[in-house]
Order: sequence, then C-alpha cells, then structure tokens
Amino acid sequence: MAKHIFVTGGVVSSLGKGLTAASIGMLLESRGLKVRLQKFDPYINVDAGTMNPFQHGEVYVTDDGAETDLDLGHYERFTHTIVDRHSNYTTGKIYNTVISKERKGEYLGNTVQVVPHITNEIKEAIKSVSAADVDVVITEIGGTVGDIEGLPFLEGIRQFGFDVGKQNVLFIHLTLLPYLRASDEIKTKPTQHSVGKLREIGIQPDILICRTEKPITEEMKSKIALFCNVEITSVIEEKDVDFSIYEVPLVFIEQGLDTLILKKLRMRTKRRDISRWRELIKTLLKPKHEVEIAIVGKYIRLQDSYKSIYEALIHGGIENNCRVRLRKIHAEDIETQGAKKLLKGVNAILVPGGFGERGIEGKIQAINHARMNKIPFFGICLGMQCATIEFARNVCKMKDAHSTEFRPDTPFPVVSLMEEQKKISNMGGTMRLGAYPCKIAKKTHAHKAYQKTNIAERHRHRYEFTNRYLEEFKKHGLIFSGICPSGELVEIIEVKDHPWFTAVQFHPEFKSKPTGAHPLFRDFVASALKSKNET
Ligand code: GLN
Repeated sequence: MAKHIFVTGGVVSSLGKGLTAASIGMLLESRGLKVRLQKFDPYINVDAGTMNPFQHGEVYVTDDGAETDLDLGHYERFTHTIVDRHSNYTTGKIYNTVISKERKGEYLGNTVQVVPHITNEIKEAIKSVSAADVDVVITEIGGTVGDIEGLPFLEGIRQFGFDVGKQNVLFIHLTLLPYLRASDEIKTKPTQHSVGKLREIGIQPDILICRTEKPITEEMKSKIALFCNVEITSVIEEKDVDFSIYEVPLVFIEQGLDTLILKKLRMRTKRRDISRWRELIKTLLKPKHEVEIAIVGKYIRLQDSYKSIYEALIHGGIENNCRVRLRKIHAEDIETQGAKKLLKGVNAILVPGGFGERGIEGKIQAINHARMNKIPFFGICLGMQCATIEFARNVCKMKDAHSTEFRPDTPFPVVSLMEEQKKISNMGGTMRLGAYPCKIAKKTHAHKAYQKTNIAERHRHRYEFTNRYLEEFKKHGLIFSGICPSGELVEIIEVKDHPWFTAVQFHPEFKSKPTGAHPLFRDFVASALKSKNET
C-alpha cells in the first residue's frame, strides 16, 4: 500500500505549496521511490478551464484533456508523476459527482451530507491516484487553513489518515514566519494560530515547513516546536531562494527533509542521487551565454499567466548553457509604440496562446517584425493563429484576413472555428483538449527538433487553420510541417528562408522539464543564440 503525504498551508496563500510538494516529490524520487502528486482546490468551479488568467494564472492541460491548476506543472517539471484528471479535484468536481449520484438514486434514499458523502468522495479522489507500483502519494490542499471552503477537504484527509493508520500518513504544514522590519524580528504567532486551527479539526502536523526571509534561530525553532506540538527536528526552514525555484529541493536536502520524511513514514530506500539536478543548477547559476527573448502577450503583467512558457524557456536555456532574459511586452503597447522600438535588440520573439481580441494587432505586428527581419520566432496556439493571419495579409495579399474569433465577417477567414466546435454551447471542458497525435514532415525545423515523424502534444483551443486556404499558403512559401492525422488539422507551420520561424497549434511548454527541455524550446533558444552571435 502507498504511503500518503498531505501538504496544507497556513497564514497566507501563495506560499509556494505547489513548489514545496513538487520538491518533496523530487527528493523522494531521488531515493528511488515512485511518487504521484495531486492537488485539491477548494473553489466551486468544476475545473480551472473557465477561469481567466488574471484570476487564476495559467490553465495547465493534461494529456487526457483536463484543465487544471498550474501547480500540476510544477509536479510534472520536478518529478515523473503521471498527471491526469485525477490529479486535480475541486469542490465543484466533488459536488458534481455526489449530486449526479444522488440524482441516479445511488444513495438509496439516505440524506446526502458533507460528512460522510462529500468526505467519502474526497477519500475516493485520494485513492484514485494510487496504484500498485506507487510508493508515495503527495496530496496538496489548496487555499489556507481556516478558509470555510477548505473544511471538507481537511475533514476528508483527517478521516483518511485515521482509516489507513498513523504509520502510513504524514501531515506537512507550510506556514509563514513574517519578519517585522520595525522591531527586526521574526514572528511565530501566526504559525501558532494556524497550527491551532488545524488541531481543532483533528490534524496534528508532523512536520512544519516555515517560509521565511531571514534565517531562523534554534531558539525560535524550539518555541515553534513547543507551541505547535511538533519535535524541534521537524521544524524545517524554507528560506526564500535567491535565484531559481529549482534550488528549493536543495534547501530541503541541507536540512535532511527527505531523511526525516522517510523515518517518519518508516520507509527504507537507497541513498539519494541528485547529481543531475546539481548539474543543472550549476548551469543555471553560471551559464556561458545569454540571450534576450521578447514575449509579446496580453497577460504579461502577471507572473503566473505564462508560467510553463517561462519555465520551458529556462529549460531551453539550460540545454544551450545559456541564460534566457525575458523582455515581457504588452501586445497593446506594440500597437501604440511600434514593434521596431519595443523589440529593438531582442534575439528572438515568442507569441504565446490567448483568448480575446485585445492586443491581436500588436501581436501580428511583432510577428511581421520577426518575419521581415529574420529574427527567430516561436508562435504558440494563438501565436500560430496570428502568424497565419500575418502571412495571409502580407504575403498572400489577402486583405483584412483574420480569425473568425475576432472578425466573423472577414473576407479571408484563414483561422476559423473547428467543425466539431460549431454545435457546442457549454463553455466548460469543451475545447479541443489534451494530447493529439501529429505527423511531422521531414527536412523541417520541427523534424530537426523532434528527430521523429510521430509525436503527440497537448491542445487547448477552439479555432484552427482553415484548410481550404492550404494550397494558396503553400504556393506562397508557407511550410506545413505538422499535421494531425485525425481530421487533417494543421499543427505546425514554418516560414521558408528564415533562420527559425516555427509556430504550433499545441502547447509544447507543458512537456518541458529542467532535466530535459522540450526540443522546440531547446532549438528556439539555440536559434536565438545563433542570431545573437551573427549580429
Ligand atoms: N483563442 C484561440 C482558440 O480558441 C487560441 C487558444 C489558445 O491560445 N490556447 O483557438
């Protein structure tokens, strides 16, 4: 039977529970264990798909087409866990299941209640990620202890711990030790309150991980231990990392967190091997080269909206021994200030995915600038659709060509709603989602990157290249280097006689890891570096 670790958070949100859970997963894998990670989100939305990036950050898509929380991205980047629709449960999803069972009469006339029906469903969700070969399941509870909406999940994990026995579960609580500048001291009271709240519910944390800007003293640790009823050796400091999130596991290793967890779970494993990880941190800290890449998007002002893209660029950098500096540009600013001014000196340009018309013309101008000036360009999802529009207007001379998402009455609808989307009226979970196969044409940038002809990548879109324009585009030199065999959908386009102009309908960023960059991101950064060295 798998052992279970539950990660809760206290005092404030955004403490980095996802990163902490992912780092713990990575450490356990380094001991040869097989882990699965999972997140519970206490909000009522059934999934993250209907939330906008300003609210929620990036929506992370799994192979099986679930639209999930971006913490799952950390899980996949740090570990080899499988992520699928069982890796992310929200209150909405749990209630949906319970209500539909009730409608089918499955509760045999009983009154349906939070305890036991909702909590039972939560316990089933925990079991759903376990399998015979899984050693440890790590479940992160979103939100903060004390939130009304988190209560059923906390009750669910309390019961689960009781059901499977003390030796099989570990409760890890992540908390904040605020630093007060005026008195130059770190305060432990909020942590005491937060642990107090947990204990009221019946959960005694086994390990406390304390986020702090300043190092904590032994004296402070013993105070926290005493008031929170944990051993002093179980108070772990998580000091802010200066440089990269990939350093977090090393912060834990220094304090022996993996050994502590294994001891508490009574597990014996092999010695830790993190040589590969140390290597990549070394490259990250002291790379040989540096490039600057512009990202032209709509949600640029938010740290989390393009999370996986930013990370994938860092990974591409690692493989090229290169630091990737990002110039984040608001697409609308290009409309008012011009591409030439804002993109001056960048070594490459990336236009990410998105929805809605705002900033579209700015993105198109940025793409035109990249194409005309032979600056390496990478378009992702909406980025590919914009590249199609740019090429239609300026090379094929299709005046006012557009996507029907933004101009339903355009004379040249070069991007249009997919056939299967036309009959859909519900917004939630109805896009073209998840992994689809793609056939790669030889002698293309795509083939050079992937080194194979059959790939699969994750999607999240409703609009698509309009196939009736295919021949016209080909005639003008656009290369269709990736096609989805089911439905003949265009997945990758490239521009001829350009150092590296590649745009994809899917989201390659979801499959990139620090230990293995996605081949397209690797080659994109390489082309940026080449372009820098040649100019
Ligand atoms: N809005 C576009 C579509 O739905 C692109 C989506 C995206 O970039 N993820 O097709």
